[in-house]
Amino acid sequence: MFDDIRSKRVVFVAHCFLNQNSISDGTAVYPAAFRVMVDFFLNADIGIVQMPCPELYCLGIDRGNIHGAESPVIVENTRIRTEMKKDSSDIELTRLADYVVRQILEYDKYGFEVVGIIGANRSPNCGIDTTSDHNEEISGMGLFMEKISYQLSREDISIPMIGIKGKDNIQEKLQQLMDGEL
Ligand code: SF4
Repeated sequence: MFDDIRSKRVVFVAHCFLNQNSISDGTAVYPAAFRVMVDFFLNADIGIVQMPCPELYCLGIDRGNIHGAESPVIVENTRIRTEMKKDSSDIELTRLADYVVRQILEYDKYGFEVVGIIGANRSPNCGIDTTSDHNEEISGMGLFMEKISYQLSREDISIPMIGIKGKDNIQEKLQQLMDGEL
């Protein structure tokens, strides 16, 4: 099955890497997308799966604060984190994590390789190495990535998870991921 031309290799990426229009006000670093990331994976024949943006889904594109861009990013991120921990958002967040993990399970079931999950460091939801809380950038995962990671561990599936920031040498980090160095 699936012996057609497809590579059977995919990567899961945070929504805003492919669509900067989704990100919170004042934090976009490209007009449209992280082109280096797109080129990197397409050149390697790795399909790119865009995960949903939990903040846009739960809080809206303005994150419920039309003055968000006026605050330091980590302060606004901390407010967003607090909002996302409320019950109504937490339920939706769990559903979105289910949706991501269900796709991963399908790929896994049929022998596809999920080469990694790429999150956005400093994000209160999609950070992998760092997130935002207490008006600081701190070590640890964002809420969405925590849920995805937890659900994957319950399924006994191990997938490398790496976090990227706009200022990183993205090509180098992605190459390290592919070389198993992260
Ligand atoms: S980091 Fe996550 S929550 Fe934030 S804009 Fe990107 S996809 Fe949405």
